[in-house]
Amino acid sequence: MPKNSGNSRPSAYLAPAMTDSEPLLSTLDALPEAGRIRSRKVSGGVATIIADASGLGAGERKALEANLKSAAALVPGIREVRVGLTASEPNRKLVAVASGKGGVGKSTLAANLAIAIARTGKKVGLIDADVYGPSQTKLLGTDERPTAEDKRLNPVHAHGIRFLSLGQLVSPGHALAWRGPMASGALAQLVEADWGDAEILVVDLPPGTGDVQLSLAQKSRPDGAVIVSTPQALSLIDATRAIDLFGKVSVPVIGLVENMSGYVCPHCGERSDPFGSGGAEEAAEAMGIPFLGRIPLDQSVREASDAGTPPAATGGPQSEAFAAIARKVLAALETAPASKHSPLEEIVDASG
Ligand code: ADP
Repeated sequence: MPKNSGNSRPSAYLAPAMTDSEPLLSTLDALPEAGRIRSRKVSGGVATIIADASGLGAGERKALEANLKSAAALVPGIREVRVGLTASEPNRKLVAVASGKGGVGKSTLAANLAIAIARTGKKVGLIDADVYGPSQTKLLGTDERPTAEDKRLNPVHAHGIRFLSLGQLVSPGHALAWRGPMASGALAQLVEADWGDAEILVVDLPPGTGDVQLSLAQKSRPDGAVIVSTPQALSLIDATRAIDLFGKVSVPVIGLVENMSGYVCPHCGERSDPFGSGGAEEAAEAMGIPFLGRIPLDQSVREASDAGTPPAATGGPQSEAFAAIARKVLAALETAPASKHSPLEEIVDASG
């Protein structure tokens, strides 16, 4: 039986002594930013404050840090203030848009899919990782260059989404001479940019099955891949290779989109099928993957894309085709197995 385990009590109740921290606590509690403070303590005249900066942009994070520092520095007895900011990343989903070959409309689909998802109310980012021909600045109609803060890129805003493109990292008109590790490194920089509260990132991959696709699959573990093909047999054979690659690296294939499907002559109204018809739906069925829908070959899609006004953003006749695909992609993401992007507490800034 241990000693003093019984009922012995101090003869008189002693109020706890005022601690060093109390003036700091009451000062911080009175701040408008109090709700973001996760811990605060004082030791030997050094105040250490940890605050949650989730969802704040770079400027707002700086302001939060500055306000906490200046308020704490005024507390008597404090000679140094250290502020650490944490951010819990949103449970962000990553969707890769891929194709077996170039020119099938993969970038067009990626841009319009991102915008159509954003129009459902989601916060969406688009990454243009097409190292052979980054075209999202043209498709989205802006040459604005991203800024960087603490070596992290700040995406550019257009048509209700935010985006970053490999094309923004080189001077206009200069070819990207990046392949292999350099392209993969640049892609990582885009994925790790300051996407703020974006819930979904759509990645426009280069065509084919090369290093960039592999590096994205392995490092960023996409939650799903959307494959774009024309109805043409040749394009479908290449699409099959892309599907096979995602299977090998355990990235779920959300489904196949048939682009440039059926052409209605703007003059006589007659419908023709320059790239064949129904091929992608049959191929999807044969491979046991969902068919997500078809986008017609339509001159207005090409014209709107060239003009930097994506059809999904304008509510024109083709926007419903993109919206229908967006709904299927969202439904697939919702029912996907629990993401490996578990909320991650990460120190994004600490100063002292
Ligand atoms: P990829 O990314 O596969 O190389 P793009 O998205 O750059 O292909 O499209 C190639 C060209 O085809 C572009 O000029 C684009 O405007 C055009 N295009 C894409 N989809 C359609 C469509 N459904 N109807 C008409 N033109 C299209």
